[in-house]
Amino acid sequence: MATHLILQKIFKTGIVSEPPPQADPALRTREQDLHAEILRVFGQAVTIRHIDAGSCNGCELEIHAINGPHYNIEGMGVKFAASPRHVDVLLVTGPVSRNLEVALKRTYDATPEPKWVIAMGDCGCTGGIFGESYASCGRIANVIPVDVVVAGCPPAPLEILRGILTAAQEAKQAAVKARNRDAE
Ligand code: SF4
Repeated sequence: MATHLILQKIFKTGIVSEPPPQADPALRTREQDLHAEILRVFGQAVTIRHIDAGSCNGCELEIHAINGPHYNIEGMGVKFAASPRHVDVLLVTGPVSRNLEVALKRTYDATPEPKWVIAMGDCGCTGGIFGESYASCGRIANVIPVDVVVAGCPPAPLEILRGILTAAQEAKQAAVKARNRDAE
């Protein structure tokens, strides 16, 4: 098609995409409160290793979203790392497929203590629509110990941040208990 015909078509058709959603001030306030709480609880950087144990990748898209600049998680001291040897928290998605059962156990064993495991998504919490079968071990807790669950299919980014915050609160309580034990 000649260029002028393409341009004519563009001008005639106009813009067919939807207008972008407008910012919701209530959501912004909620995010700011959550950021402040995470900073207060963490007090230092917390590193996370994401493990896809058999997810449909829907949960992964939400994890990509929280890594966007608008959530500023690195600014809050929350960082994703490639090696389980360098992290405090394992964020596990999906039902555990039988093929990944051993790899998940090894990754858990390779993570230094103290460590916390977040089971993310309905599949991670309960086995979800995949359940248990010849191909699936079901929920994450069937394979490794889980400390925090974040339900949803998939959970929204703010819910994931809440899960990370809960893990951090547990970490803080454990550290306080350990300090008290040492002082006795
Ligand atoms: S919880 Fe939903 S989005 Fe996440 S892995 Fe399961 S089916 Fe996919």
